[in-house]
Amino acid sequence: MFYFDKINNKKILKSDKIQSINAFFTTRQTVIKSKEDNMQNLVFENKELICQYLGIDIKNFVSPNQTHSANIDVAKIGKSIYPETDALILTEKNLGVFLNFADCTPVILYDKKQNIGAIAHAGWRGTAQKISALTVQKLIRDFNSKPSDITALIGPAIGMCCYNVGEEVYTKLKSTVCDFERLYEIREGNIYVDLKGINKRQLEETGLYDIDVCPYCTVHNNDEFFSYRNENATTSRHSAIICLT
Ligand SMILES: [Zn+2]
Repeated sequence: MFYFDKINNKKILKSDKIQSINAFFTTRQTVIKSKEDNMQNLVFENKELICQYLGIDIKNFVSPNQTHSANIDVAKIGKSIYPETDALILTEKNLGVFLNFADCTPVILYDKKQNIGAIAHAGWRGTAQKISALTVQKLIRDFNSKPSDITALIGPAIGMCCYNVGEEVYTKLKSTVCDFERLYEIREGNIYVDLKGINKRQLEETGLYDIDVCPYCTVHNNDEFFSYRNENATTSRHSAIICLT
């Protein structure tokens, strides 16, 4: 179950399914990614606060250059640039990883046996390319993970209540899972899809069963999270963060 916690009286979003490492989502109060001029002080202050909370050096707090690709990389201490990367695997301690979102689906993965984690960025393009399932497959292939040891948190994203798509996107998303039941709705002739639900179904079809899905929609809960669609292409993002202990 998802719940709000606080760092220095500022809200973050957590799940009770992952408690043994740091894994959480920032909110508007704890924003660490924005290009808006009036946000820079807050972003800097929050980054320092979160690194202190994680017990890591700010130079070891890294995020990739997300481009809606299906490219997956492994974070390494001393490496700060990850071009065209939409999922980052974390195997080292003293290193924090974050990816940034405003409507796209954030997926945090954690293998408690191997003590390794990952974050995937799944907008409709990433979801159509099955980036979260591909990340699980890489954990299995390269890091000896078993699907039954992996917990997934699916964070705040635009909900089926608000995510209207065209027929082409609908068809692409539908083809990624065997069972597309309850993952879309037709309302007044428009198609709405459940990006969080599609990612959950993809992960289930990869063998995961320990999955927590966040109830928040970035449009309906725009007071807590950022929405690209609802805020006229804002450059501010909430982030998914992991740091091993
Ligand atoms: Zn909504």
